[in-house]
Amino acid sequence: MSEERSLNFIEEIVEEDLAKGTHGGRVLTRFPPEPNGYLHIGHAKSICLNFGLAKKYDGQTNLRFDDTNPTKEETEYVDSIKEDVKWLGFNWASELYASDYFEQLYNFAVELIKKGLAYVDDSTSEEIAAQKGTPTEPGTPNQYRNRSVDENLILFAGMKAGKYQDGEKVLRAKIDLASPNMLLRDPLMYRIKHARHHRTGDAWCIYPMYDFAHGQSDALEEITHSICTLEFVPHRPLYDLFIKELEIFPSKQYEFARLNMTYTVMSKRKLMQLVTDNHVESWDDPRMPTISGLRRRGYTAASIREFCERIGVAKRDNMIDVSLLEFCIREDLNKTAWRRMAVLDPIKLIITNYPEGQTETLHGENNPEVEGGDGGRDIPFGNELWIEREDFMEEPPKKFFRLGVGLMARLKNAYIVKCEDFKKDADGNVTEIYCTYIPESKSGSDTSGVNVKGTIHWVSVPHAKTAEVRLYDRLFQVEDPSNEEGDFKEYLNPESLHVLPTAYIEPDLATAKPGKGYQFIRKGYFTLDKHSTADKLVFNRTVGLKDSWTKKS
Ligand code: ATP
Ligand code: MG
Repeated sequence: MSEERSLNFIEEIVEEDLAKGTHGGRVLTRFPPEPNGYLHIGHAKSICLNFGLAKKYDGQTNLRFDDTNPTKEETEYVDSIKEDVKWLGFNWASELYASDYFEQLYNFAVELIKKGLAYVDDSTSEEIAAQKGTPTEPGTPNQYRNRSVDENLILFAGMKAGKYQDGEKVLRAKIDLASPNMLLRDPLMYRIKHARHHRTGDAWCIYPMYDFAHGQSDALEEITHSICTLEFVPHRPLYDLFIKELEIFPSKQYEFARLNMTYTVMSKRKLMQLVTDNHVESWDDPRMPTISGLRRRGYTAASIREFCERIGVAKRDNMIDVSLLEFCIREDLNKTAWRRMAVLDPIKLIITNYPEGQTETLHGENNPEVEGGDGGRDIPFGNELWIEREDFMEEPPKKFFRLGVGLMARLKNAYIVKCEDFKKDADGNVTEIYCTYIPESKSGSDTSGVNVKGTIHWVSVPHAKTAEVRLYDRLFQVEDPSNEEGDFKEYLNPESLHVLPTAYIEPDLATAKPGKGYQFIRKGYFTLDKHSTADKLVFNRTVGLKDSWTKKS
């Protein structure tokens, strides 16, 4: 489908630039995460867009860490971001850090001071805010705005040298206190922060603001198309102004709509709260919309790329239904996941006419969607089996094509059985089901002539392995928790995790490979959890076989 679709608006811009020969026909994009949290699916959208453009137009993409805020950034996040981008299938041309440009950015600021375009302001942040006016009233200049170039140079050097406390002074651009764009009312360029930086240590105690760092970093790298989300539209005049006044490489900013998805939150700050308040286990909890969470849940990189392709690149904010993401992983796993049998809520079935203690080895394909079945595996069969409790009913209604006294069903890859009787315990719970089997009905060589409608899955009791199985549901109960009254955390789904401590799985699953998807027949797609060990297998359900949520609500 990627071949057929029409160009998105950013591709149109790039093609126009290529046709005009802007930047010598070169395309260099960047993905600029702030290392203050783990990447989420919204970032995946930006990654696919930036790296995808470069790939399509023979260009390259830089990975630039936007690390200008020393107090919130950590190496742990840098490492996780690199891992996630690579896992998504992309390679960056250069790994860069905005902090590598601190010296150049400082020199740029000095240049603007010399041009009379920046000044040191001693006002408090409250005073600055008050003097900025309102969208309908212009701001008022203060006494510092007319400081001489020489005085500004001395004061700014003093800021850099650590002569002042946090908040004592700032460097501001001298632009227009009456601009209808509040961001142009003498925005801050530098603030004082005596804090250790994850890369530059204690070398700096002044740090550039986003607006003074981002465009200049783009220009220093000669980025041709700097793509960001819509909230940066009002920042664009500032982006262009600094580049023009500094006479540096003319990078250009383009904005697209950020990805929002139903039943989740998409902000590192909010995701961080879920982790620190222990609503989830970690950043890579399989319920999180983080790349690492989705990976642990069993999402493939291909399914995430396909999702980003399908949602396209919009110019207006919108909300994407999470079921589209689920559709993409289902499509992918249907083609790649090996089929296996696992009984999540077991009840024992005894075949009364099958010799006790006898075992035979049956065969099952790995994936019927693949020509030739994608290989297969042996499945041991005997007279005692685990089946799913819900596949038996004491008083089955019409059209129940599973088991109940007198009913017949096929055991997947095995024989047709007929239910003859069952046993209950003192509390009235069914404990055992008794069946007879038809020896001539073996799958693949069935000569019985008996036709049954239902097929159920099973696992041989003496051969079964046990596993913990974790079923996940949506993390939030409402479509847009950020848009509800009160705190978004009030809308968490209390039943987003359901742990089954003892499921029975066919023995072949004991060798399940991490990162591989398995279809537990009739139960959904599963993958090994990262905490799974040979002694204690743990499976995560990636997604059900059908969209069960839409049906429920
Ligand atoms: P958050 O609000 O989640 O903290 P952010 O925008 O502050 O996100 P950055 O690390 O600054 O996170 O983002 C890196 C890049 O990813 C930016 O170019 C940003 O525009 C883009 N991005 C972030 N969130 C989304 C989203 N939901 N959809 C598309 N792109 C996004
Ligand atoms: Mg940010």
